[in-house]
Amino acid sequence: MTQDPYEILGVSRDASADEIKKAYRRLARQLHPDVNPDPETQDRFKDVSRAYEVLSDPAKRQAYDRGGDAFGQGFGGAGQGFSFTDIMDAFFGGGAAGAGGQNRGPRSRARRGQDALIRLDVSLAEAAFGVTRELKVDTALTCEACEGKGTAPGTSPVTCETCHGQGEVAVVQRSFLGEIRTLRPCAACRGYGSVIPDPCRECSGDGRVRSRRTLTVKIPAGVDMGTRVQLTGQGEVGPGGGPAGDLYVEIHVEPHATFTRHGNDLHTTVTLPMTAAALGTQLTLPLLEADLERSEDAGDGEDAGTVTTFDLDVRPGTQSGSEQVIKGFGVPSLRGGRGDLVVSVRVDTPTRLDPRQEELLRELAAIRGEETPDGRVQAPHKSMFGRLRDAFQGG
Ligand SMILES: [Zn+2]
Ligand SMILES: [Zn+2]
Repeated sequence: MTQDPYEILGVSRDASADEIKKAYRRLARQLHPDVNPDPETQDRFKDVSRAYEVLSDPAKRQAYDRGGDAFGQGFGGAGQGFSFTDIMDAFFGGGAAGAGGQNRGPRSRARRGQDALIRLDVSLAEAAFGVTRELKVDTALTCEACEGKGTAPGTSPVTCETCHGQGEVAVVQRSFLGEIRTLRPCAACRGYGSVIPDPCRECSGDGRVRSRRTLTVKIPAGVDMGTRVQLTGQGEVGPGGGPAGDLYVEIHVEPHATFTRHGNDLHTTVTLPMTAAALGTQLTLPLLEADLERSEDAGDGEDAGTVTTFDLDVRPGTQSGSEQVIKGFGVPSLRGGRGDLVVSVRVDTPTRLDPRQEELLRELAAIRGEETPDGRVQAPHKSMFGRLRDAFQGG
């Protein structure tokens, strides 16, 4: 019989509190004594209940994750975590707060920490091909002096005298209908059922301290502006040694000198002399991969065989404003595949002609019958946006 509470409940090690609760409810419904009283099933029900007791309590779960014995101690202790309410929830549904809208008994000092968000500036090539970066992160970490317990060395929390460890006190109000008795969280211990008489000096009893550390983060190929990379359990540690939240690294891509990105396509513009556009030529175009050779901390995309240039054939008679699509030389997609590289051509008309050049051009114009051209009159060139607008307006 396994002693691993994750295995007993059939959940993964990074299962959320909600997933654990759902798994427990499902098993409790099958194994509960009222449903299935045979002894073997009852042994399983006990195991499932114990497993849930450990995994539903952040402090116990973290203790187990750190290599502690899940069931060796604490079971049946202060009556924390596992409660009648959870059994009722398993059968009758109900929210996380339980049937009465309130948990019974003292609450745990350990709570899950908050998620943290940091921004990371990367180059376009790093976003496209992935990069491994060292990040300085400021978050709350478990206090080493007290191991998250919040107590000074050699001391421990004592039972609250006001509520006798219950974490809540009965408030009685008299009304013409008689006495109304309600339970409120105990103010003396803030509902914990115990007080820390001698708080740890390092963390003032919070169980955690702020600290700066360096994390190595692998950014996958294909991220874009605003993509958030999740690092599970690297956020803020919770109070009372509670489990840490997650850290999100939000990608910010720096603009590139020659490429702009549209989805997974890259766009660039090449400027050609008028003669080359007319006669045709071959160009060596630097690809985005060329940036990887320059950066020292480049990601996985780089190896000795990486192609960094593309030989572009410019056909004779290429028009200014025309585009050539080079398939598969855009940005790799997070889901696999790669976008295209779109090269726009701009034809450069010469501005200063010496007498010999002017003579040659005039001669060419004469041969082509272009000495007094009419110029072709036509409707203004419509952009994609203009065509869409016309489509919507029925124009
Ligand atoms: Zn401490
Ligand atoms: Zn109290």
